[in-house]
Amino acid sequence: MSLLRIEGLQAGYGLLKAVRSVSFDCEQGQVLALVGANGAGKTTLLRTLAGAHAASAGSIVFDGHDITALRAPRRVGLGIAMVPEGRRLFSGMSVEDNLRVAGMRARKGPWNLESVLEAFPQLKPKLKAAAGTLSGGQQQATSIARALMTNPRVLLLDEISLGLSPIAVDQVYQSLQGLIDAGTTLVLVEQDLTRALAVATRVICMLEGGIALQGRRDELSREAITQAYFGLARQAQAAPATH
Ligand code: ATP
Repeated sequence: MSLLRIEGLQAGYGLLKAVRSVSFDCEQGQVLALVGANGAGKTTLLRTLAGAHAASAGSIVFDGHDITALRAPRRVGLGIAMVPEGRRLFSGMSVEDNLRVAGMRARKGPWNLESVLEAFPQLKPKLKAAAGTLSGGQQQATSIARALMTNPRVLLLDEISLGLSPIAVDQVYQSLQGLIDAGTTLVLVEQDLTRALAVATRVICMLEGGIALQGRRDELSREAITQAYFGLARQAQAAPATH
Protein backbone atom coordinates (compact mmCIF):
# COMPACT_ATOMS: atom_id res chain seq x y z
CA MET A 1 0.00 0.00 0.00
CA SER A 2 1.24 3.50 -0.82
CA LEU A 3 2.19 5.71 2.09
CA LEU A 4 0.70 8.69 0.27
CA ARG A 5 -1.95 8.47 -2.45
CA ILE A 6 -3.06 11.64 -4.23
CA GLU A 7 -6.07 11.47 -6.53
CA GLY A 8 -7.51 14.23 -8.73
CA LEU A 9 -6.14 16.90 -6.42
CA GLN A 10 -6.96 20.51 -7.18
CA ALA A 11 -6.00 23.65 -5.32
CA GLY A 12 -5.80 27.30 -6.22
CA TYR A 13 -6.27 30.93 -5.38
CA GLY A 14 -9.73 32.23 -6.25
CA LEU A 15 -10.31 31.46 -9.90
CA LEU A 16 -6.68 30.45 -10.50
CA LYS A 17 -6.20 26.68 -10.51
CA ALA A 18 -2.58 26.32 -9.39
CA VAL A 19 -2.88 22.52 -9.05
CA ARG A 20 -5.10 20.73 -11.58
CA SER A 21 -6.22 17.16 -11.24
CA VAL A 22 -2.94 15.82 -9.90
CA SER A 23 -2.68 12.10 -9.09
CA PHE A 24 0.33 10.11 -7.88
CA ASP A 25 1.47 7.58 -5.30
CA CYS A 26 4.43 7.81 -2.97
CA GLU A 27 5.78 4.62 -1.42
CA GLN A 28 7.53 4.33 1.92
CA GLY A 29 11.25 5.10 1.60
CA GLN A 30 10.81 6.81 -1.76
CA VAL A 31 12.53 10.10 -2.62
CA LEU A 32 10.06 11.86 -4.87
CA ALA A 33 11.35 14.94 -6.66
CA LEU A 34 8.74 17.49 -7.78
CA VAL A 35 10.33 19.58 -10.50
CA GLY A 36 9.01 22.22 -12.87
CA ALA A 37 9.43 25.83 -13.91
CA ASN A 38 8.46 28.85 -11.81
CA GLY A 39 4.73 28.95 -11.22
CA ALA A 40 4.16 25.30 -12.20
CA GLY A 41 2.32 24.68 -8.92
CA LYS A 42 4.94 22.76 -6.92
CA THR A 43 4.76 24.87 -3.75
CA THR A 44 0.96 24.94 -3.80
CA LEU A 45 0.90 21.15 -4.18
CA LEU A 46 3.33 20.68 -1.29
CA ARG A 47 1.40 23.08 0.95
CA THR A 48 -1.82 21.26 0.10
CA LEU A 49 -0.22 17.95 1.13
CA ALA A 50 0.89 19.55 4.41
CA GLY A 51 -2.57 21.00 5.09
CA ALA A 52 -1.33 24.58 4.87
CA HIS A 53 -3.52 25.16 1.80
CA ALA A 54 -7.01 23.73 1.25
CA ALA A 55 -7.74 21.32 -1.59
CA SER A 56 -10.69 22.37 -3.76
CA ALA A 57 -11.21 18.85 -5.15
CA GLY A 58 -9.67 15.39 -5.04
CA SER A 59 -8.24 13.40 -2.16
CA ILE A 60 -5.09 12.85 -0.14
CA VAL A 61 -4.85 9.43 1.49
CA PHE A 62 -2.04 8.88 4.00
CA ASP A 63 -1.34 5.35 5.19
CA GLY A 64 -4.87 4.34 4.19
CA HIS A 65 -6.63 7.28 5.91
CA ASP A 66 -8.29 10.10 3.98
CA ILE A 67 -6.69 13.25 5.38
CA THR A 68 -7.96 15.72 2.77
CA ALA A 69 -10.02 17.66 5.33
CA LEU A 70 -7.54 17.47 8.22
CA ARG A 71 -5.82 20.61 9.41
CA ALA A 72 -2.03 20.94 9.34
CA PRO A 73 -1.36 20.19 13.04
CA ARG A 74 -3.34 16.93 12.82
CA ARG A 75 -1.28 15.95 9.77
CA VAL A 76 1.93 16.64 11.69
CA GLY A 77 0.57 14.33 14.39
CA LEU A 78 0.08 11.60 11.79
CA GLY A 79 3.61 12.04 10.50
CA ILE A 80 3.60 14.64 7.71
CA ALA A 81 6.12 17.45 8.26
CA MET A 82 7.03 20.28 5.95
CA VAL A 83 10.18 22.33 5.57
CA PRO A 84 8.73 25.52 4.05
CA GLU A 85 10.37 27.69 1.44
CA GLY A 86 12.20 30.52 3.24
CA ARG A 87 12.70 28.42 6.39
CA ARG A 88 10.22 30.37 8.59
CA LEU A 89 12.18 29.95 11.83
CA PHE A 90 11.43 31.87 15.04
CA SER A 91 14.35 34.20 14.37
CA GLY A 92 14.57 35.71 17.88
CA MET A 93 14.60 32.28 19.54
CA SER A 94 17.68 30.12 19.94
CA VAL A 95 18.28 27.18 17.63
CA GLU A 96 17.72 24.85 20.58
CA ASP A 97 14.35 26.42 21.42
CA ASN A 98 13.26 26.28 17.76
CA LEU A 99 14.00 22.55 17.87
CA ARG A 100 12.50 21.89 21.29
CA VAL A 101 9.23 23.69 20.43
CA ALA A 102 8.81 21.40 17.43
CA GLY A 103 9.55 18.37 19.60
CA MET A 104 6.99 19.25 22.26
CA ARG A 105 4.15 17.29 20.70
CA ALA A 106 6.26 14.94 18.64
CA ARG A 107 5.26 11.47 17.62
CA LYS A 108 7.29 8.66 19.09
CA GLY A 109 10.34 7.85 17.01
CA PRO A 110 14.09 8.04 16.60
CA TRP A 111 14.42 11.81 16.37
CA ASN A 112 15.18 13.97 19.40
CA LEU A 113 17.58 16.83 20.10
CA GLU A 114 20.57 14.50 20.29
CA SER A 115 19.84 12.57 17.11
CA VAL A 116 19.03 15.65 14.99
CA LEU A 117 22.34 17.17 16.10
CA GLU A 118 24.10 14.00 14.97
CA ALA A 119 22.43 14.43 11.57
CA PHE A 120 23.24 18.16 11.47
CA PRO A 121 26.52 18.50 13.42
CA GLN A 122 27.03 22.04 12.09
CA LEU A 123 24.27 23.12 14.52
CA LYS A 124 26.02 21.88 17.66
CA PRO A 125 28.10 25.02 18.23
CA LYS A 126 25.09 27.20 17.37
CA LEU A 127 22.53 25.78 19.78
CA LYS A 128 22.33 28.90 21.98
CA ALA A 129 22.51 31.38 19.08
CA ALA A 130 19.37 33.19 17.92
CA ALA A 131 18.19 31.50 14.72
CA GLY A 132 18.08 34.87 12.93
CA THR A 133 21.85 35.32 13.37
CA LEU A 134 22.74 32.06 11.57
CA SER A 135 24.01 31.78 7.99
CA GLY A 136 21.51 30.69 5.33
CA GLY A 137 22.87 27.14 5.31
CA GLN A 138 22.69 26.87 9.09
CA GLN A 139 19.14 28.21 9.05
CA GLN A 140 18.17 25.65 6.43
CA ALA A 141 19.73 22.89 8.53
CA THR A 142 17.75 24.16 11.54
CA SER A 143 14.55 24.17 9.50
CA ILE A 144 15.04 20.55 8.39
CA ALA A 145 16.10 19.51 11.90
CA ARG A 146 13.00 21.20 13.31
CA ALA A 147 10.75 19.19 10.98
CA LEU A 148 12.58 15.99 11.96
CA MET A 149 11.92 16.70 15.65
CA THR A 150 8.24 15.84 14.98
CA ASN A 151 9.32 12.33 13.91
CA PRO A 152 7.70 12.46 10.47
CA ARG A 153 6.94 9.48 8.28
CA VAL A 154 7.15 11.72 5.26
CA LEU A 155 9.14 14.92 5.00
CA LEU A 156 8.04 17.60 2.50
CA LEU A 157 10.92 19.88 1.50
CA ASP A 158 10.36 23.11 -0.43
CA GLU A 159 13.33 24.62 -2.31
CA ILE A 160 15.92 23.87 0.34
CA SER A 161 18.80 25.08 -1.84
CA LEU A 162 17.23 28.44 -2.67
CA GLY A 163 19.49 31.40 -1.83
CA LEU A 164 22.30 29.27 -0.38
CA SER A 165 25.95 29.28 -1.43
CA PRO A 166 27.08 26.16 -3.32
CA ILE A 167 29.06 25.03 -0.26
CA ALA A 168 26.03 25.41 2.01
CA VAL A 169 23.89 23.48 -0.50
CA ASP A 170 26.50 20.69 -0.52
CA GLN A 171 26.37 20.50 3.25
CA VAL A 172 22.57 20.46 3.44
CA TYR A 173 22.39 17.75 0.77
CA GLN A 174 25.06 15.72 2.57
CA SER A 175 22.84 15.66 5.65
CA LEU A 176 19.84 14.87 3.47
CA GLN A 177 21.69 11.88 2.06
CA GLY A 178 22.01 10.58 5.62
CA LEU A 179 18.22 10.78 6.01
CA ILE A 180 17.71 9.07 2.66
CA ASP A 181 20.13 6.27 3.63
CA ALA A 182 18.12 5.81 6.83
CA GLY A 183 14.98 5.21 4.71
CA THR A 184 13.18 8.52 5.28
CA THR A 185 10.40 9.18 2.77
CA LEU A 186 10.92 12.54 1.08
CA VAL A 187 8.91 14.72 -1.27
CA LEU A 188 11.34 17.30 -2.54
CA VAL A 189 10.56 20.46 -4.49
CA GLU A 190 13.79 21.58 -6.08
CA GLN A 191 14.56 24.07 -8.85
CA ASP A 192 18.07 22.70 -9.22
CA LEU A 193 17.37 19.78 -11.55
CA THR A 194 20.83 18.26 -11.14
CA ARG A 195 20.48 18.14 -7.35
CA ALA A 196 16.94 16.77 -7.55
CA LEU A 197 17.81 14.05 -10.03
CA ALA A 198 20.88 13.01 -8.04
CA VAL A 199 18.80 11.99 -5.01
CA ALA A 200 15.38 11.12 -6.48
CA THR A 201 14.03 7.61 -6.90
CA ARG A 202 10.90 8.97 -8.60
CA VAL A 203 10.35 12.19 -10.53
CA ILE A 204 7.20 14.20 -11.15
CA CYS A 205 7.50 17.08 -13.56
CA MET A 206 4.79 19.70 -13.20
CA LEU A 207 3.66 22.09 -15.89
CA GLU A 208 0.92 24.70 -15.49
CA GLY A 209 -0.58 22.95 -12.47
CA GLY A 210 -0.69 19.46 -13.97
CA ILE A 211 1.73 16.57 -14.29
CA ALA A 212 3.61 16.67 -17.58
CA LEU A 213 5.69 13.57 -16.86
CA GLN A 214 6.21 11.11 -14.02
CA GLY A 215 8.14 7.92 -13.55
CA ARG A 216 11.00 6.16 -11.84
CA ARG A 217 14.20 8.18 -11.99
CA ASP A 218 16.12 5.31 -13.59
CA GLU A 219 13.50 5.03 -16.35
CA LEU A 220 13.46 8.71 -17.33
CA SER A 221 16.20 10.39 -19.33
CA ARG A 222 17.32 13.85 -18.36
CA GLU A 223 16.34 14.97 -21.85
CA ALA A 224 12.74 13.76 -21.41
CA ILE A 225 12.53 15.48 -18.03
CA THR A 226 13.94 18.73 -19.43
CA GLN A 227 11.48 18.67 -22.32
CA ALA A 228 8.56 18.13 -19.95
CA TYR A 229 9.93 20.86 -17.66
CA PHE A 230 9.73 23.42 -20.45
CA GLY A 231 6.55 22.04 -22.00
CA LEU A 232 8.45 21.03 -25.13
CA ALA A 233 7.16 17.44 -25.17
CA ARG A 234 3.59 18.72 -25.47
CA GLN A 235 4.56 21.28 -28.12
CA ALA A 236 6.34 18.59 -30.11
CA GLN A 237 3.20 16.41 -29.97
CA ALA A 238 0.96 19.34 -30.96
CA ALA A 239 3.21 20.62 -33.76
CA PRO A 240 1.80 20.02 -37.26
CA ALA A 241 3.81 17.86 -39.66
CA THR A 242 6.12 19.99 -41.81
CA HIS A 243 6.08 17.79 -44.89
P1 ATP B 1 7.99 28.73 -7.77
O1 ATP B 1 9.08 27.82 -8.08
O2 ATP B 1 8.09 30.06 -8.45
O3 ATP B 1 7.67 28.85 -6.29
P2 ATP B 1 5.84 26.84 -8.05
O4 ATP B 1 5.96 25.78 -9.06
O5 ATP B 1 6.12 26.47 -6.63
O6 ATP B 1 6.71 28.09 -8.46
P3 ATP B 1 3.40 28.00 -7.05
O7 ATP B 1 4.16 28.91 -6.15
O8 ATP B 1 2.65 26.88 -6.45
O9 ATP B 1 4.37 27.41 -8.17
O10 ATP B 1 2.42 28.88 -7.93
C1 ATP B 1 1.48 28.31 -8.81
C2 ATP B 1 0.58 29.41 -9.36
O11 ATP B 1 -0.16 29.98 -8.28
C3 ATP B 1 1.35 30.57 -9.99
O12 ATP B 1 0.59 31.02 -11.09
C4 ATP B 1 1.41 31.61 -8.90
O13 ATP B 1 1.47 32.91 -9.45
C5 ATP B 1 0.09 31.39 -8.18
N1 ATP B 1 0.17 31.73 -6.76
C6 ATP B 1 1.04 31.23 -5.86
N2 ATP B 1 0.80 31.74 -4.63
C7 ATP B 1 -0.26 32.58 -4.76
C8 ATP B 1 -0.99 33.41 -3.86
N3 ATP B 1 -0.68 33.46 -2.57
N4 ATP B 1 -2.01 34.11 -4.36
C9 ATP B 1 -2.35 34.07 -5.66
N5 ATP B 1 -1.72 33.30 -6.59
C10 ATP B 1 -0.68 32.57 -6.14
